[in-house]
Amino acid sequence: MTGPTPRPEILGIHPYVAGESTVAGANRTVKLSSNEGAFGVPPGAQAAIREATEEVFRYPDGGATALRAALGKRWGLDPARIVCGAGSDDLLYQFCLSYGGPGRDIVMSAHGFTIYEIAGVYAGSKVIKVPERDMATDLDAMLAAVSPATRLVFIANPNNPTGSMVSAEALARFRAALPAHVLLVIDSAYAEYVTADEYDAGIKLVDATDNTVMTRTFSKIFGLGGMRIGWCYAPPAVVDVLNRVRGPFNVSVAAQAAAIAALAEPGWVEHSRAHNAEFRQVMTDGLTAAGIKVWPSQGNFVLADFVTVDKANAADAFLRKRGIIVRKVGGYGLPHCLRITIGTAEEVGLIIEGLTEFVRHG
Ligand SMILES: *Cc1c(COP(=O)(O)O)cnc(C)c1O
Repeated sequence: MTGPTPRPEILGIHPYVAGESTVAGANRTVKLSSNEGAFGVPPGAQAAIREATEEVFRYPDGGATALRAALGKRWGLDPARIVCGAGSDDLLYQFCLSYGGPGRDIVMSAHGFTIYEIAGVYAGSKVIKVPERDMATDLDAMLAAVSPATRLVFIANPNNPTGSMVSAEALARFRAALPAHVLLVIDSAYAEYVTADEYDAGIKLVDATDNTVMTRTFSKIFGLGGMRIGWCYAPPAVVDVLNRVRGPFNVSVAAQAAAIAALAEPGWVEHSRAHNAEFRQVMTDGLTAAGIKVWPSQGNFVLADFVTVDKANAADAFLRKRGIIVRKVGGYGLPHCLRITIGTAEEVGLIIEGLTEFVRHG
């Protein structure tokens, strides 16, 4: 041995590829690659961040007491059952490291969020990816993949990057069929964008069971991806575990202040949800009219299916020449698709115009 080496499986992890943010040579870039909210940072949160500048020599409240109280009030939850993280990714890692490990398998869907795989392998778990049906989570196949070794099942609802949703009823039946020792993590990062009425973000299921958790984030509709703040609602025993292992000061002073202000921003969520619902449909109709298949989405993005990898790559290159960045999703096992965030009305128009032109002449 010549120097320090990590456990062998660590070097098998492919680093997370974030959505890109610049195109060389473009005067203006339109970034629709990371599902960030269409309207930037809520004004109240901007003010709270500015005010926090004088406080940041102090450590944050490690228990995020005021933020958990605000979250509890907003959703009618007991703050003692909420844990905050540096983004929900932080919490997803803690679940894997605490409940996963060697001999403790993790089950996810084939096109599920890649952090589950990265964090699961990091923890030493075997990560089992279950094929989907029509770009949607196949709950029966997931159940069949569960064995006595399974300790964690992750479901993003709606899922990124497919946009698919599992109904509240199907999710409750799935939970009831899972062994009691399996922790079900429902990742509801896009909950606020859902317009389908058979949806439960997970609160009811967490309340009804003692082995289900729900994660949420301020990175999407609340426009605070750069602050790194997320939270989970969990049974007391899981809260206890997280509070033992998480970083004691995992959420910064500015992030806590910004999140509290974002929750209080009048009409922010309503306006953003209504805009998204309208322009998700405009995007879907526009691309469909251009001859591009779009999978149904309940999120703030759509998955455009170009059938072949070459077509998807050519479409991406064509948009880039116009300064528009969307998300390649080869890392999610979907190299023939592109994921496109629902931006402003103008941005949605630029995508439709660009891809229509691509189909005609590209
Ligand atoms: C964006 C996203 C998150 C949020 O991650 P943060 O760490 O909170 O920024 C979580 N899960 C899914 C499926 C996402 O797409």
